[in-house]
Amino acid sequence: MDKKRVLITGAAGFLGSHLCDRFMKEGFYVIGMDNLITGNLKNIEHLFADKNFEFHHHDVSNFVHVSGELDYILHFASPASPIDYLKIPIQTLKVGSLGTHNLLGLAKAKKARMLIASTSEVYGDPMVHPQTESYYGNVNPIGPRGVYDEAKRFQEAMTMAYHTYHGVETRIVRIFNTYGPRMRLNDGRVLPAFIGQALRGEDLTVFGDGSQTRSFCYVDDLIDGIYRLLFSDYAYPVNIGNPDEITIGEFAEEIIKLTGTDQKVIYEPLPKDDPMQRRPDITKAQEILGWEPKVNRAEGLKITYDYFKTLTEEELFTKEH
Ligand code: NAD
Ligand code: UDP
Repeated sequence: MDKKRVLITGAAGFLGSHLCDRFMKEGFYVIGMDNLITGNLKNIEHLFADKNFEFHHHDVSNFVHVSGELDYILHFASPASPIDYLKIPIQTLKVGSLGTHNLLGLAKAKKARMLIASTSEVYGDPMVHPQTESYYGNVNPIGPRGVYDEAKRFQEAMTMAYHTYHGVETRIVRIFNTYGPRMRLNDGRVLPAFIGQALRGEDLTVFGDGSQTRSFCYVDDLIDGIYRLLFSDYAYPVNIGNPDEITIGEFAEEIIKLTGTDQKVIYEPLPKDDPMQRRPDITKAQEILGWEPKVNRAEGLKITYDYFKTLTEEELFTKEH
């Protein structure tokens, strides 16, 4: 009866479902909340029989009610891949702004500590490399990615305001590209895109000339960083990501090797405002949280590929998002 109670929004999504698993494993009572706009109950159905888990089908951009006490709130609800937030731009803006406001109000009422999922996208197409938390970013507010980037920047501002003016205990994690099992094959992000193409026997679509860079973090490492941040006493943003940077062209070659496909790379236009380089400076996470990633890309990609191989033909070939 004395278990700490945590509300996790976006619980049926990629990261939210892994967070549910971690908090269940650590002995918490977990309340998962999701409107399933990009998530899938399959990611958490293994938890349904557990008496320490409950699920609420709810859109957090509308008033959020949870009965009983709450110790922690982790706000992870938001479309997260470019395909998703371009398809549902208004919902993306709303969940980052109205959703965050509702949850901060709930945190204040329940005296809960709240952690928000921010993103490396707050740095936009960065002029500083690698990105430190002190960099203010280079975001085009009215470009296609603005709906996501600006929602996340507003989310940070609102969270700091509740911290400063209402004394709510808050934490802000700036997540860099993360991958692993339970990513949606058709979410358009580069890793599921490439692995899906390899599994279907299609050529791999590199956008632009492939010289843009990303730095990919395995999901278990990210979840551990978030867990440490929640229980730290640090209220300012912290980058969590793997600094091992690679060009998208090289990444395509790695996937070709990993999957053994005989397909080739084809080039398509670079989407507007696509950041040219991205790598986290993780000095803060190292110093404040004693955290750094442990899983290298070769190990992480193998586990992720093994997961995608378990998908059914139907899942593999559906173009639905
Ligand atoms: P995801 O799409 O797999 O999960 C998001 C979940 O939120 C889905 O289950 C979706 O149905 C739910 N959701 C969306 N809007 C909602 C609403 N209004 N009410 C209730 N539920 C809603 O994406 P993800 O990769 O798991 O991302 C989770 C969070 O982490 C997002 O906030 C995202 O911005 C952030 N993030 C992720 C990455 C990454 O690399 N995966 C990087 C930076 C930030
Ligand atoms: N990308 C690509 N081919 C694809 C999907 C994505 O070359 O089929 C590129 C995309 O243009 C970007 C990088 O891969 O430069 C990472 O894209 P993703 O959507 O995964 O994440 P984000 O751009 O948000 O970091």
